[in-house]
Amino acid sequence: MSFVIDDVLVRNDPVGRRLPVLFDSPHSGSVYPADFRVVCPHSLLRQGEDTHVEELFATAPDHGATLLCALFPRTCIDVNRAMDDIDPALIDGDWPMPLRPTPRSTLGMGLIRSMLRLGCRSMTGNCRPRRLPTASTAITRPYHAQMRLALDGLAERFGAVWHVNCHSMPSSLRPDGRDPLAADFVIGDRDGTTSEAGFVHLVAQTLRGFGYRVAINDPYKGVELLARYGDPSRGRHSIQLEINRRLYMNEETLERHDGFARLKGDIDLLIGRIADYAGQRILRRAAE
Ligand SMILES: [Zn+2]
Repeated sequence: MSFVIDDVLVRNDPVGRRLPVLFDSPHSGSVYPADFRVVCPHSLLRQGEDTHVEELFATAPDHGATLLCALFPRTCIDVNRAMDDIDPALIDGDWPMPLRPTPRSTLGMGLIRSMLRLGCRSMTGNCRPRRLPTASTAITRPYHAQMRLALDGLAERFGAVWHVNCHSMPSSLRPDGRDPLAADFVIGDRDGTTSEAGFVHLVAQTLRGFGYRVAINDPYKGVELLARYGDPSRGRHSIQLEINRRLYMNEETLERHDGFARLKGDIDLLIGRIADYAGQRILRRAAE
């Protein structure tokens, strides 16, 4: 069963049995606000999205997991950033809290994104949506509320919860194609702080078993969503999973290529392994 919540996200509930497993796709949305203007072509802007990631994980509810998918685009507002991580040059007027821009904002990749990628500007202060503070809160609040509701509910019922924060990454760290990434997947746990090691190991070994190259915390460690929700001392295990886009789509046209079906099949198997892992862990907890 799927529910659209506040026009901001879709929650897909488990089919049949429910397990303490949550997947979320915060960057695959593509519903742009009517007053959002950009300084780059729309086709280029869309390269900032994690296109098709929600579809790659679409079978998660069949395995007993919950799946949350953003509808709004991260190139507008990025729910994987702190609410105060903003370049002050992008806003005029008041913001509801003191700003604390991190180096990500300095690079144009804070809560409000002005750079698509390094060297590729997408938005200036003149192009921001009107009523930005209200819009930001209206978008980020329901997303975080659903994250917390799902994680709290599952942790309370089962004693622990396993969360995969799903993303895709460009095949090159630079728009000119230099510095291509060797890894097919990058797992992040903020240097071992947001999950038990066994969960990271399970995902890494499963993907390696399928023949993929897997890196851990290099170059992506996880950002706001992991920092907020991963807390292994309270049984909340959160990892970030970045998938190399070259595995499944043409990165310029965003069209799926022949690799999509194989990758989706492998991800379905991975979801099954994660569901088995969580099922065994809660059985073990019950027996202890
Ligand atoms: Zn992403």
